[in-house]
Amino acid sequence: AAPGTAAADPPAGGAPGQPPAAAVAEKVSWTSELGVGMLSLDEADSGVPLADHLVSPEKNIFILHGGDHFTLAWMPNPPPSRDGDGAKEEEEGGTPSFDVLHWNGLPPAGPRLAHLTVAAPSGSRGPAPVRHRPTYYKPVPGQIQDVVQAHSDDKAIRPGMYETWRYEVQLAVDDPNVSGEERPPDAPRPRVFEQGPPPSPGSSWRCAACYSKRFETMCFGVNEAGSEECRHCGKRREECGWTIWLTYEELPNAQKGQCARVHAPKIVSLLRTKWPGAKVEYGDRSNPPAV
Ligand SMILES: [Zn+2]
Repeated sequence: AAPGTAAADPPAGGAPGQPPAAAVAEKVSWTSELGVGMLSLDEADSGVPLADHLVSPEKNIFILHGGDHFTLAWMPNPPPSRDGDGAKEEEEGGTPSFDVLHWNGLPPAGPRLAHLTVAAPSGSRGPAPVRHRPTYYKPVPGQIQDVVQAHSDDKAIRPGMYETWRYEVQLAVDDPNVSGEERPPDAPRPRVFEQGPPPSPGSSWRCAACYSKRFETMCFGVNEAGSEECRHCGKRREECGWTIWLTYEELPNAQKGQCARVHAPKIVSLLRTKWPGAKVEYGDRSNPPAV
């Protein structure tokens, strides 16, 4: 883990098909008086927040930790601090943007000074909670359990524009074999989706029950067009369920972040650890600054 993360122990491996059990850890402070901060892709990948003083430093200068490489970013004209308000910007003309300069000193992608424009509709993330708690609860039927893939046609037609693609998702069903902590009454309820009409007779479909057991069986549940029974598990389609397609806009924030982590340039996911949901522009879309 990057310096300053709150994880006391590495996360333990989870059961097949389940995410790793996150470590519960007390918050720690970063006591150095450097004045500069740090953002890390580890935060996006592990969900464990970096120390508050690193994410919200005294000076608007950040070391960026991209996993195996360090670069530098700073803001010449920082936005007014809106830490943790999480509010949608309702100003006329949308969210004001601000400049971020990014210096990568090393070849092959550098030396390069890049100019980024960032718009942060939710402001900067606030202080991390006092304790890091696991956030994996037993799935509610109808919530998205997994994003299977992005639509190959959309990827071919609009390469790199992952925010315009459709995504195949598997919805959770009520399954006594799926473990997970019971959701506390005060925890936010996940958004749920309808299974909807059956796949059109001309399209192949994927069995949701088989897909949810893919780590045990290595079967991804694909069935031929027109079939009404899964050829893998033998269940009728109405019984086993099928995966559905949603646009990026329709996805809840957690899945948007997951898709962005896979398909967006690393620097976007990295900057979003400080500015959740931020729009990041850097000129030529095919040449994002490397972190
Ligand atoms: Zn099946």
